[in-house]
Amino acid sequence: MQQEAYCQIHREYVIQYLIPNKNSAVLACAACVAGLQDEKRKVTFDNILLLHEIQNNPQKIISILANVDQNYTELSNKYSLIPEEQIKCKFQQWQNTLRQFQKWIDQLIIEYKQQLDQAIQEAQTTIKIVKKELKCDDLWNLIKQLQNQNGQRDIQDQIQCKIQIYFEDLQKNSVEIIKKIINQKENDSKNLQKKEIILPDEKEIQQKFQQQSQSILDLNMYIRRLTYSPNAPLSNIVPYDYQQQLLSLIEQRTNQKINKINQIYIGSKDGLNSQALWSKINLKQNLLFIFKSKNPGNSIFGGYANCKFNGYLNGYASDDTASSFIFSYTKNEIFPLKQEHKQSAIWCQQNGYAVYFGSNGDINISTDFINGSSDIGQSYSWNENQGGNNTYLYGGDKPNIEECEVFEIEQ
Ligand SMILES: [Zn+2]
Repeated sequence: MQQEAYCQIHREYVIQYLIPNKNSAVLACAACVAGLQDEKRKVTFDNILLLHEIQNNPQKIISILANVDQNYTELSNKYSLIPEEQIKCKFQQWQNTLRQFQKWIDQLIIEYKQQLDQAIQEAQTTIKIVKKELKCDDLWNLIKQLQNQNGQRDIQDQIQCKIQIYFEDLQKNSVEIIKKIINQKENDSKNLQKKEIILPDEKEIQQKFQQQSQSILDLNMYIRRLTYSPNAPLSNIVPYDYQQQLLSLIEQRTNQKINKINQIYIGSKDGLNSQALWSKINLKQNLLFIFKSKNPGNSIFGGYANCKFNGYLNGYASDDTASSFIFSYTKNEIFPLKQEHKQSAIWCQQNGYAVYFGSNGDINISTDFINGSSDIGQSYSWNENQGGNNTYLYGGDKPNIEECEVFEIEQ
């Protein structure tokens, strides 16, 4: 068992904390920390680190060091190393669900094979009955005779006549024949005690596949957390985990690994207007936009477009991969680009709009970032699309953007 160290000042108290001071840091106990109370008997814990926390996350120490690049301190705050045991356990879970899925797929294949065999058998029986009731053999015989005779006109005429009579008979008795076919099919089913063909539930299948892709995204996120590079830019609008989810989704939808992410625009720093934005994004491609609205509720939403942003295009840019999507962090929803709308993934016109997604403005941010509209569900699918302008993404009459970040995704 690990021995506990006691405070040098308060000898009966165990050392539990690390408190930074001007040029170094001191180890402290609960009594030391209590001594830091202000007149309101409050202690600010921002800079006090728990020792056991540091053991798992030594990078936490970076946050109390002076003169460290802000990106890195932010990183050490946002990024916490998950204990190895937890990661391994997570992987085990993931592997188990995947193995179960594999079993389920094997079962599904067997089930489909049975149903398909039965369907083929049924179709063959039907053909047999129809062939019999339509006396097809008679017709084939006549046709054969026609092929085999050697151009004798009168015999040819006789056969032609018989064929005509064959079809006349069919026409006369058509209602009866069909009835017979149906009856025979029914009798046949009864006699053979055929099982009804029941296909596996389509909704359930869809759900299972979705669950699997979600579990893969989850695992991606875990792995990313372990391998995150301090140089990678972080969003100040959405939390770290959500940003990772967006990146995983981009990788999944484009079927390509992300090599690098560049933050190329921050509205509050570069200027929240169309001119400033386009000076940063023009002729760039593969961009992720994150917006935060000033409207009540401070909705956060955005979009990813796998297109080139050519500000002089004055037209639609197409995303042939149809991997673009719009997201709402606030509503936790993803709106993927519809296949049939991939020609109008975005509209590019730098003096007309700041950002314009979709054929009719699923997201339409005006040049001033205040005005605009949203017809979400038009080109980017949304189950509840009511058609026309709506407030779903930003919760107000206008987008009223307070902050916007743009990331360039290199794949
Ligand atoms: Zn102490």
